[in-house]
Amino acid sequence: MTGCTLAPGATIGILGGGQLGRMLALAASPLGLRCHIYCPDADSPAFQVSDAFTVAAYDDEAALGAFADAVDVVTYEFENVPEATARFLESRTVLRPGARPLGVAQDRLSEKEFLASIGIPLAPFAPVDGPDDIAAAAQVAGLPAILKTRRMGYDGKGQTRIESLDDVHAAWERIGKAPAVLEGVVDFALECSVIAARGADGATAAYDIAENEHRDHILKWTHVPASLSGETQAAARALGIRVAEALDYVGVLAVELFVVREGGSERLVANEIAPRVHNSGHWTQDGCLVSQFEQHVRAVAGWPLGAPERRCDVVMENLIGQDAENWAEILADPAARLHLYGKREIRPGRKMGHVNRVK
Ligand code: AMP
Repeated sequence: MTGCTLAPGATIGILGGGQLGRMLALAASPLGLRCHIYCPDADSPAFQVSDAFTVAAYDDEAALGAFADAVDVVTYEFENVPEATARFLESRTVLRPGARPLGVAQDRLSEKEFLASIGIPLAPFAPVDGPDDIAAAAQVAGLPAILKTRRMGYDGKGQTRIESLDDVHAAWERIGKAPAVLEGVVDFALECSVIAARGADGATAAYDIAENEHRDHILKWTHVPASLSGETQAAARALGIRVAEALDYVGVLAVELFVVREGGSERLVANEIAPRVHNSGHWTQDGCLVSQFEQHVRAVAGWPLGAPERRCDVVMENLIGQDAENWAEILADPAARLHLYGKREIRPGRKMGHVNRVK
């Protein structure tokens, strides 16, 4: 099935109906491609801009089968698609990227073991299956350390910092007593990410490195260019491409990275992989001829990748919760491009949209 190439007018099925699915559908449209979104939530932002949608659970095999029959290729916009769903769809149609990157990225331990196996630098880590494992794990990870659940953690959820071994039982309670990984705290100078793409033909591309600033554990700003040496940026792009190649990946992925500065030099430490388009790549919508969304659509369609070159400097700001109420002010700025996700209700911490300010 690796040779599947869509013709204009074909339909891409997307698992997940959030803002990433919405922006994928918006990017597919000018290429003459249709999108069919599959999401259990009847009020999904992506439904508003897609040709068709299915509201059904991820384990509803009858609905998944009908979805597979209705589309020409399937992709996903979030990494917690159950692996069984991905395997089921993979047996019925073409799934790009495949089920393997999901399996790797859904479990922090398998993700770290995979990254380590291909020589990507990481913080020291050890698995933790109960509070009694933490002392031994701390011998490897050092202290202070961060205890992270293996599954379902994002935006700082499912993780807690451990300063001393007196804290192990409380820390185990704080993360909900779930299988975990203990990792050493990285004394980073900044956080960045690489957005890389691999086509069905094996061609690769990587965008300029994004420098990321978080607020309350949620991405708030991305700056491009990043304040990193050219050498570090090239190393980060190569790292992203190495991950995509090792996963035999088709589509766009992100790798979140820490940058450590020591004695005038910079060193990259990988944090995690997102096997999908990523919030830190939203700047590409207004900073590049081919955005990360179009790039992903091209890849899953079996089309050639587009040029990832950056055309201008961009600061992307996420509009979180009530930030979105400033839409009129943003529209008045000639250097700003507003992207709202069509979510009905503003809630604290909810990603409502973003703005790309270009220079
Ligand atoms: P994560 O959920 O793994 O993306 O972590 C969320 C945030 O916690 C990261 O963006 C960092 O700011 C911080 N963090 C996670 N792991 C580490 C670490 N090993 N050392 C220092 N900070 C970390």
